Amino acid sequence: MARNTEAVCRKCRREGFKLTLKGSRCDTDKCAFNRRSNAPGMHGAKRGKLTDYGVHLREKQKVKNYYGVLEKQFRKYFDMAERTRGNTGKELMGLLERRLDNIVYRLGFGASRSQSRQWVAHGHIQVNGKRVDIPSYLVRIGDVITVRNRPKSKQAVKNVIDEGLRDVPDFLYRDSGDIPKGIVMRLPTAEDVTMPVDSALIVELCSK
Ligand code: SF4
Repeated sequence: MARNTEAVCRKCRREGFKLTLKGSRCDTDKCAFNRRSNAPGMHGAKRGKLTDYGVHLREKQKVKNYYGVLEKQFRKYFDMAERTRGNTGKELMGLLERRLDNIVYRLGFGASRSQSRQWVAHGHIQVNGKRVDIPSYLVRIGDVITVRNRPKSKQAVKNVIDEGLRDVPDFLYRDSGDIPKGIVMRLPTAEDVTMPVDSALIVELCSK
């Protein structure tokens, strides 16, 4: 599986925004963005005003980094969003929120989206009673997401839960009992995205 191997904290510094890619570390003094928020690289501190294209590009890159998706996959989501009747930008954000790795993260079963992606890829997660190891799986209303009932899977998630549960968004129901599970109560929308995004900029860039 292809993935972006750039140091994650550099991504936050480049986007000028805390993307919270390292789980609980992001809330501590060890957060690299808290210590140095300028763009990475030799000339990062001196970077001037962005061009119009740069503003559009950074918005797209910010979203890609936030959800951990690469360009090819991002384009697929964009094409899917364009084919819907709704607002393309909002549909795009809704689709990204529906990814299984994101749902596992929003349920608080993974400390970060990358760890949640690992839980899915390593077979710790089931959807409607069946193991699903595809992080890009798009959840539907009523899907029941459970941690596999085996010690290794339950312990992996329990360690995260024990660190403190995050608030769960209202499109999800969570039961953090012996076998942690979640239910998709409704499809997420752009309003459920916790990061400020101007999706119109992304649509303008990708439609060219
Ligand atoms: Fe970003 Fe988290 Fe690294 Fe801070 S610790 S720079 S929020 S990934």
